[in-house]
Amino acid sequence: MAATRTRVMHRSLRETPPKAVGGEGVWLIAEDGRRILDSSGGAAVSCLGHQHPRVLAAIAKQASTLAYAHTGFFSSEPAEELAERLVGHEPGGLGYAYFVSGGSEAIEASIKLARQYFIERGEPKRARFIARRQSYHGNTLGALSAGGNAWRREPYAPLLSPSFSHVTPAFAYHEKRDDESEAGFVARLAAELEAEFQRLGPDTVAAFIAEPVVGATAGCVPAPEGYFKEVREICTRHGALLILDEVMCGMGRTGTLHAWEQEGISPDIQAIAKGLGGGYQPIGAMLASGTIVDTVRNGSGAFQHGHTYLAHPLACAAALEVQRTISDEKLLDKVKERGRQLEQRLIERFGNHRHVGDIRGRGLFWGIELVADRARRQPFDPKLKLHQRIKSAAFAGGLACYPSGGTADGQRGDHVLLAPPYIATSGDIDMIVERLGAAVDSALKDVGHG
Ligand code: PMP
Repeated sequence: MAATRTRVMHRSLRETPPKAVGGEGVWLIAEDGRRILDSSGGAAVSCLGHQHPRVLAAIAKQASTLAYAHTGFFSSEPAEELAERLVGHEPGGLGYAYFVSGGSEAIEASIKLARQYFIERGEPKRARFIARRQSYHGNTLGALSAGGNAWRREPYAPLLSPSFSHVTPAFAYHEKRDDESEAGFVARLAAELEAEFQRLGPDTVAAFIAEPVVGATAGCVPAPEGYFKEVREICTRHGALLILDEVMCGMGRTGTLHAWEQEGISPDIQAIAKGLGGGYQPIGAMLASGTIVDTVRNGSGAFQHGHTYLAHPLACAAALEVQRTISDEKLLDKVKERGRQLEQRLIERFGNHRHVGDIRGRGLFWGIELVADRARRQPFDPKLKLHQRIKSAAFAGGLACYPSGGTADGQRGDHVLLAPPYIATSGDIDMIVERLGAAVDSALKDVGHG
């Protein structure tokens, strides 16, 4: 990464990343002409890969018709069609879609709608939210209050809302005791959640919020079987809502349109984003149950949460075409097929690796966790910044992947998240694992564990 002069405030204020100047399917093209295999779609965004002709054509068509109209005055054809596609298909299910510009906004909307719903129902005491440690729900202050990612929260702690509390995540690799069965682990987590409701007062809790498959904070962690059924039952029994954050794991990423379909439950409110528009336009959405929306409709009549770019027509047109393409080209079948191949290759390459403690995921959403000591599941010292070394080595070898750091308390090791585009070929999957393997070994060598 070159230290060139820039007026853009990049994530790192010390390094300016190279410019991306083009894209082609699973490939990104850097300014020096290098082709980089995009194995994580940025942060699980680019589900159709780059420059998909159908989506580009849909954007051009909408741009030449109407780029923007404020939702205080108008709806638009693409917003209406996109909502029709996403919700209203099952009685009692999610009935409405509220389109925003990204994941954090979708979470903010979810939190605020849950709160407003209870006020309008005449239960104003319900103002508390229970979330989990090792979770990420976005970087705005409400979403950050919900998240349990310690390093992201720390600097802003005084600004975060005390209305959020956190329970143990369903992260079996680190949280399940060795002498505990999976069912026992689920029962313990359910008991902890129940105890948290009791501690707060069950009639003060508005919602429990969780990612069905944890993404950025822990590296593709699905919950053990039965966990979400327990969670759903506890929320329902206490009259609280279940908000599922599918910003990263949703929209086909795990092999079903929604990850919760594989848990045999459904949420009251859901946040989606990345795979919705596949990166072609900034868009996210809150999906909400008919009961909730009808309560607000029959009460004050308006959700008090407008943004200037709500249901942006160009963004909705792009997302609509992304979703049409996924279904026309039966890409969820591809997610399942290539997902099985990716799992297999990861097991072959890292299953016996001395420093890979866990390989986990679903569909085309996989993570590997690096450990200094496999037997004790002991992470590397975070000061080594192993994840950053892996990222750099991978990039130098022509692979973009999404690594995150471990924690000093040993609750999570360095890990790498993979989320290839749904259009990846079998050859692409093999190449991803081959390049990742070389990067991991080179980074381990760097820190004296080669
Ligand atoms: N929730 C989850 C689960 C996410 O992974 C993210 C982004 N990584 C967000 C919320 C926030 O989304 P955005 O960055 O689009 O605001």
